[in-house]
Amino acid sequence: MCPRCEQDQETPLHLLRDCYYSRLAWESTPLQANFFNLDLDGWLYQNVTSTSSTGKPLQLWSMLFLALLWYIWKSRNALIFEDKWLPPQIVLQQATSLAMNTRLALATQISSHPRVSRCFMAELWGCREGLRMASDLGIIHLILEMDSLLVVHMLQAKKGVEGLAWTLFSDILHLLRTFSEYHVQHTFREGNFAADYMAAIGQNFSHGITVFPERPVKIDNILNRDALGTLFPRS
Ligand SMILES: [Zn+2]
Repeated sequence: MCPRCEQDQETPLHLLRDCYYSRLAWESTPLQANFFNLDLDGWLYQNVTSTSSTGKPLQLWSMLFLALLWYIWKSRNALIFEDKWLPPQIVLQQATSLAMNTRLALATQISSHPRVSRCFMAELWGCREGLRMASDLGIIHLILEMDSLLVVHMLQAKKGVEGLAWTLFSDILHLLRTFSEYHVQHTFREGNFAADYMAAIGQNFSHGITVFPERPVKIDNILNRDALGTLFPRS
């Protein structure tokens, strides 16, 4: 039961959007079309990927959206665990300020911090998703090979990442610790043909992660050559 209205079941969608309390906060923002009609996945996807501005300088809708989700969730926990009731307007103010600060931090960081490049972030995302998959498959002894020397060094040192990439990086460190044994090591691109091949296939998909129920045919050859230790010249 929802601890605020005590009328509906506390589903994620009820808590974050449809409860009268959350509605009050959302209705004070420049809402996107169909906002209250989408299902959970469609609603999250549409708003997180939105490129619209809120109309205020330095404020993207997607960031305000995420910040407001976060503060609605926090205010719900404050109510349950600390018996504190925050007015929805305060929650919206906190979210607005977080969204603006994040935007400012991102704007300065991306231009001043060469390490936080798109490519670097893609390496981190790929690493995290791979680890989650390995964990789901029940793997306990793990060798993680990556062709980004930078990421390998950072993972081995367990430091070196700041700001934007930090959340992702610490998530990776946390996931690694869930394996009973793991090694992180560097491999050259030539030693990583299978990953390279999968990345190339991935270019054909518009978003998200695609898990293949069966191995793509060509990958067998690549893995066999890998297992045989075939050598390739560096190009
Ligand atoms: Zn409710």
